[in-house]
Amino acid sequence: MRAILLGPPGAGKGTQAETIVKEFSIPHISTGDIFRQNIKQGTVLGKKAKEYMDQGLLVPDELTVELVKDRLLQDDCRNGFLLDGFPRTILQADALEDALKSMKQKLDFVVNIEVRKELLVERAVGRRVCSGCGQTYHMTFNKPKKEGICDNCGGELIQRKDDTEETVTKRINVYQEQTEPLIDYYTKKGIVINIDGEKPISEVGKDIVAKMRNK
Ligand code: ADP
Ligand code: ADP
Ligand code: ZN
Repeated sequence: MRAILLGPPGAGKGTQAETIVKEFSIPHISTGDIFRQNIKQGTVLGKKAKEYMDQGLLVPDELTVELVKDRLLQDDCRNGFLLDGFPRTILQADALEDALKSMKQKLDFVVNIEVRKELLVERAVGRRVCSGCGQTYHMTFNKPKKEGICDNCGGELIQRKDDTEETVTKRINVYQEQTEPLIDYYTKKGIVINIDGEKPISEVGKDIVAKMRNK
């Protein structure tokens, strides 16, 4: 299974990725997670990426494309992968297509999670992530058992620096301008699965798996 998750910030891509990768036993490749890890480790890439991420802007394609191409060549991607947060521009999508072609592979699905703009800000601003294991929670919609503490590892839950109302609003606009055109791009290829992302988390997950299994 080779698939992409598409959807605006806060749509539930990371949350649903967990279900999908378990179901199909494929690696979860989140460019946002890779950038955040680089920031944490203080790498050169992390320093560059941070300037853009803090402003709610996309990290330049030159820094993003090579990273993903290298990742897709790793052994665990041989039988498939789930890309989360990549591609985000037409240039990235073209680069992905070329890379897959040279690996004699092709995409099976683009899972497009649809959520109205009005709901996205509340989702992203209420998001909390574990500083230990990266697990995602929501203050209202997906609470941990103990406030502020990760169910999995006991780590402290923190708010992402770019999850303020102002930056989230900016990211949603960037999504509409630069990433939304990809829905058309992939619809023309006949591989888009549209998902109602406004239902509760577990129902969205069931819908996605059912549609991915049905083809
Ligand atoms: P994305 O990766 O698309 O930015 P996340 O998966 O991190 O989105 O979800 C954003 C926030 O919304 C998280 O706090 C998550 O717990 C919550 N969330 C995800 N899916 C739903 C849903 N179907 N209903 C309510 N809240 C959700
Ligand atoms: P969300 O889905 O909530 O927007 P992500 O974790 O996917 O969050 O991305 C966080 C930030 O990382 C983005 O706002 C952007 O700055 C950067 N980023 C992630 N993936 C890409 C990408 N494919 N191209 C450019 N920038 C990216
Ligand atoms: Zn944790």
